[in-house]
Amino acid sequence: MTEPNPADAYERWQDAYETVWQHPTRLTATPCPSCGHLDLRLLFVAFSGSSSAVMPAFWCDACRRGLPPTRGVLPPWATSVQWESVDLPDYRLVVPEESE
Ligand SMILES: [Zn+2]
Repeated sequence: MTEPNPADAYERWQDAYETVWQHPTRLTATPCPSCGHLDLRLLFVAFSGSSSAVMPAFWCDACRRGLPPTRGVLPPWATSVQWESVDLPDYRLVVPEESE
């Protein structure tokens, strides 16, 4: 196996996120875009005071990499968790490569 370059990694993470967002049953069958393990986790974090916006937390428990937190949409199948009650691991963020 070859080490993927960072720009591709970010795109693969985005793809994995979109796949799982639409097909939650694939979460346990989707390999981590960074390390290939089947250890992806996805939570939708809600903040008290904000009604509809959630922050998707998408990471891999094996290599502790994940997408940077962004504003997201809660999919119909998911239940959000309150920020105050969730204990997210300290994972390394996969970011898009800076373009010149
Ligand atoms: Zn991983």
